[in-house]
Amino acid sequence: MSTALRPNLLGLSPVKLTALLEGMGEKPFRARQLMRWIHRRGVLDFGAMTDIGKSFRERLTLETTLAPPELVSRYDAEDGCVKWIIRAASGSSVEMVYIPEGGRGTLCVSSQAGCILDCSFCATGKQGFDSNLTAAEIIGQVWLARRELGSFENGGGPPVTNVVFMGMGEPLLNFDNVMDAVDLMLDDHAYGLSKRRVTISTAGVIPGLERMRGRTDVALAISLHAANDELRDELVPLNRKYPIAMLLEATRAYMADLGEHRVPLIEYTLIRGINDHRRHARELAALLADFPCKINLIPFNEFSEVSYRRPSASSIGKFRKILQDAGHLVTVRTTRADEIAAACGQLTGSVHDQTQRRERFLRRLDGEASLDERPAGLIHSARDDSRQQAESQGTG
Ligand code: SF4
Repeated sequence: MSTALRPNLLGLSPVKLTALLEGMGEKPFRARQLMRWIHRRGVLDFGAMTDIGKSFRERLTLETTLAPPELVSRYDAEDGCVKWIIRAASGSSVEMVYIPEGGRGTLCVSSQAGCILDCSFCATGKQGFDSNLTAAEIIGQVWLARRELGSFENGGGPPVTNVVFMGMGEPLLNFDNVMDAVDLMLDDHAYGLSKRRVTISTAGVIPGLERMRGRTDVALAISLHAANDELRDELVPLNRKYPIAMLLEATRAYMADLGEHRVPLIEYTLIRGINDHRRHARELAALLADFPCKINLIPFNEFSEVSYRRPSASSIGKFRKILQDAGHLVTVRTTRADEIAAACGQLTGSVHDQTQRRERFLRRLDGEASLDERPAGLIHSARDDSRQQAESQGTG
């Protein structure tokens, strides 16, 4: 069998790996053995898997593969952050970032090569969209990071304790592959991460949020960035199809299933003169008044393709205080790894844009979000006015 046709065991979820091995006449415990070799010890050579019979190892060598994505380059920042670029099968390159902090090591992974959603403040969105990453390319980022950090079992390197889907792409538009990778992150025979330490971040793909219910119980982050639909339409075009009220409702439903006092993270990128005025803070505080959550303020990271600017530290402080005074739990993301362009919204990789696909998608969004589907007052043409108003009023 040619290599391209063989199943890549690296990306098979525990259920899929067990099914494959059962089809080969093996018992389920073989899947657990294999996962421990691959994901806990970092071994890719079937020959080294000494507790598996020799004849079966030879069969695995002939009929399957174990192939992480190709590592293209690595950049180390002075503060311990590391950015890697990997090449996807499509030829595009994507990025992942490791951020150590105290005893924690957070790996920010990508789920797609590029992104179709084209949020106006996002460097990835400006690259266009190429393809979904396979499950092997997603879990392969965790595997590669552990190998590079020397943190496989007994390696002694810094650990990967948390994984966040906040790299390139919208994870809920690559649902099945993301879920297969998540299953491996959580499985005790693979990475054994806590469900509270794996976070899926979405711009608001409602069907994906609905599919998450009953399928997984990992942490959820919502990329909100605006507290009214006119402004969010501009920052996150997906909002034209799934406005804020729908997004909060779907989020509430997912969190209700989890119980245990778990709350979502609301991400709000602060952009000078656009969404950082005091009235925006008051509007956000009111929107989330009865919505248990944590709010993470992310000062915008400037890049050349857009004219947006980061607010001053004083504006950010005032914005935070308004939210805190209203009783919200608020953090401000510290900008780490600026020197390796690894901060939020700066992951760009090198994407072979399937532009027509993205254009079709955005046209469909505009077409489907007709005015009669939307609550009163969400008239698209009001966006320019609202932006001008925000700019003229300056920062908080
Ligand atoms: S912010 Fe996220 S959803 Fe929006 S374009 Fe960037 S990667 Fe896509």
